[in-house]
Amino acid sequence: MSSNGTPNGAASLPAPGLATAALHADHPNHLADDNYAVAPSISLSTTFRSPHPDSANAKLLEDVGKGEAEFDMQDPSFHIYSRYSQSTNIRCEKVLSQIMKSHALTYSSGISAAHAAVLHYAPSVIAIRKGYHGVHVSIKLYARGRNVKMIDLDDDYAAAVAEASDGSKGSDVDEGQGAVKRGGLLVWIETPLNPSGEARDLAKYVRKAKAVSGAHVVVDSTFAPPPLQDPFEQGADMVMHSGTKYFGGHSDLLCGVLAVKDKKEWTSLWTDRTYFGANLGSMEAYLLLRSLRTLTVRVQKQSRTATLLAAWLHSLSSNQDGQVAAEDEPFAGGKIVARTYHSSLQPRTDLDDLVTKGTAPEDPTFDPAQQMPGGHAPTFAFRTVKPEYATFIPHLTTYFTPATSLGGVESLLEHRCKSDPTEDARVVRVSVGLEEFEDLRADLRDAFSKVLQREGAK
Ligand SMILES: *Cc1c(COP(=O)(O)O)cnc(C)c1O
Repeated sequence: MSSNGTPNGAASLPAPGLATAALHADHPNHLADDNYAVAPSISLSTTFRSPHPDSANAKLLEDVGKGEAEFDMQDPSFHIYSRYSQSTNIRCEKVLSQIMKSHALTYSSGISAAHAAVLHYAPSVIAIRKGYHGVHVSIKLYARGRNVKMIDLDDDYAAAVAEASDGSKGSDVDEGQGAVKRGGLLVWIETPLNPSGEARDLAKYVRKAKAVSGAHVVVDSTFAPPPLQDPFEQGADMVMHSGTKYFGGHSDLLCGVLAVKDKKEWTSLWTDRTYFGANLGSMEAYLLLRSLRTLTVRVQKQSRTATLLAAWLHSLSSNQDGQVAAEDEPFAGGKIVARTYHSSLQPRTDLDDLVTKGTAPEDPTFDPAQQMPGGHAPTFAFRTVKPEYATFIPHLTTYFTPATSLGGVESLLEHRCKSDPTEDARVVRVSVGLEEFEDLRADLRDAFSKVLQREGAK
């Protein structure tokens, strides 16, 4: 890999764009290997033949043991044991690092990545508001037996840190791999939010956090993978993804990703991962690498279709009969859909209309378009007029499957309160796949008609 990120040492080329990097960032240098396999091999071995005692690699290991040399775990020249490194996963991390313009690590799931992020910063105060429920449960596991103060994103950060029982403002912990200020404030921001697909004003919360010494901002960016947004642009310290969703993209692997700008911080995360063992499985690494090749085309189409669907659903509640297409008249004027939520429908002014209790939307001056230059969220939500509609609509569709999760190539609908009982029982989450927009719209129209028929027949 040359310094500008082009493979094969092709320094004569400019740094590759995102789609090109997703295809080539991990390819071997053809000057060193002129017959490399275009599709990577599946590598399952957990253990590897150790270097001969007279070899340079044995000498390197000896020097590393004495602290006299460093072994680059991001690009190791040989492998020892797969909890330390494994070739397919190294390739995934090369691709992820390039497309996230940072240093990325993979984990066994999004939730293990979230847990690793919290352990890494070891905060005494955590500011968070709603979003993916599992992250809250994971934070509770972290807080077990520790003195951790939980606050809201809009609370006074400095006051909370001052009040934190240990009075900790963070301390530099240098574990020989780079200093990370631990023990202070962690601001956890999910954007776009689950399940609404509405964006939070990242720059605003980063500004607020950075006014507090030792504070860190982690962004759960699962709902807007590259190329939709890059939270580092707004000043995030770490970006987290459930790779199970868009990076995996085919509903067939569990994965988590953390990315940081500093290589030393990457090494610290790598050491932690090695000793709590939340590594991505080797089969999953292979599937993930295969999926990353098509990330940009998938996500861009999913984002475009979601934006069209959100606009159409929004028209059903905001327009009356006669102002909509003839096929839509039975549902116009909010007969089925009371409200649609999506980053493309921001800024909005009806601030007391909450998709989730306790999640006030952003200020009406905040326009997510600048924060999401690559497109809007491919997952969003709508609220029906009655809970029965939200219960039955997902089961009356043909192309949408009633199921939890998101980010796959097949579209899904979820009656969200089944997964998160704190959500409004009238809310349906829409994960848009790769089907044609017209087919998905026809499928929803059909389900809306059927739910009205069902009601009429009662
Ligand atoms: C799914 C999800 C997670 C958890 O990821 P898993 O891969 O299921 O462990 C975290 N955050 C968000 C926003 C998610 O959608």
